[in-house]
Amino acid sequence: MSETRPDERPSGAENSAFCQQEAGPIRVYRRCGGCGKKQEFLNSGKFRVNANGNSVDVWLIYRCKKCKHSWNLTIYERTKPGKIPAELFEAFQTNDAEIAAAYGRNIDFLKKNNAEIE
Ligand SMILES: [Zn+2]
Repeated sequence: MSETRPDERPSGAENSAFCQQEAGPIRVYRRCGGCGKKQEFLNSGKFRVNANGNSVDVWLIYRCKKCKHSWNLTIYERTKPGKIPAELFEAFQTNDAEIAAAYGRNIDFLKKNNAEIE
């Protein structure tokens, strides 16, 4: 039997940690290392997870609108794997679009990463 299943998420999977209901993504700007000047950066919708022994780093990757230079925004830094909710960790590893979008609407997260917000 083959196990080719479409990339479906189970219905009713709610991420209660992200109930902020704000309109659309927030525009963020940053000095781009590729362009050498301030540019708008776009949420790539991709996470990067780096597990190292008992320490995990998770980033959300943004890209320069002009040159695609990447910018990793820290979500978790040197965190014990057990401290990250399993559902969330799974979302990071599968590049869950909704979770990525939720971070893109999270002003505190963006500010913590020194994003310039319009
Ligand atoms: Zn650039």
